[in-house]
Amino acid sequence: MHILLTNDDGIYAPGLRALQEELRALGRVTVVAPATEQSAVGHSITLLTPLIVQPIFDADGSPLGWAVEGKPADCVKLALVELLEETPDLVVSGINAGSNVGINVLYSGTVAAAIEGAFFGITSIAVSLEYRDPLHLDFQEAARLARDLIGQLAAKFTGSGQLFNINIPSLDQGPPKGLRIVPQGVVRYREQFQRRTDPRGRVYFWSMPGLVPLESRPDTDVTALAEGYITVTPLHFDLTDYRRLETLQRELGG
Ligand code: MN
Repeated sequence: MHILLTNDDGIYAPGLRALQEELRALGRVTVVAPATEQSAVGHSITLLTPLIVQPIFDADGSPLGWAVEGKPADCVKLALVELLEETPDLVVSGINAGSNVGINVLYSGTVAAAIEGAFFGITSIAVSLEYRDPLHLDFQEAARLARDLIGQLAAKFTGSGQLFNINIPSLDQGPPKGLRIVPQGVVRYREQFQRRTDPRGRVYFWSMPGLVPLESRPDTDVTALAEGYITVTPLHFDLTDYRRLETLQRELGG
């Protein structure tokens, strides 16, 4: 099996390296990832600047892949259209530092990279690790857990072009309680910005981390992750609301 590995935290992020090591047990791994962090860029692509690409080598001199001065979706496009000599069997994106559940799935560069893989008809998996303390993320253990799950998904779904979103709970309270297959939560978060003043007296804002959902519908990725379970959510990228499609066709005669 040939796996294309990418992320949105950048090619030197520890989450990507940990997952790369573990995925080698499943097959050959080629990394094509952003040269710098691209968290929360969603499904952005680069049109107005060049996509500079540099080959990257491991400490032992073996080829690791390519660093791209672009977005996560750019990386997957370039990998599949230009850089890889063959179509990979699987696209994996992660491990992201921080969970991607609820509406954050829509902001996530990690998930967007996996969506891009699925656009090409390749089975694609996003992997994210929740954290309470950003300095203590156990990517090694998370990568081991992710590898087992990715192996199971790959065995069943390689070639199907399906899209999956995996989230691993914060590991500082002990191992996960188990696995839950759950839908994406869609509640809004309580948004917070910190207001500051710069040395020249201008007001600026920082978007604050640690957002709290305004309400929690039970049995979603948001609640199951908070309860300490690994979550898997099957995703699709067709945004059509099929329940309203026929009604609208009747009402407008389209
Ligand atoms: Mn990120």
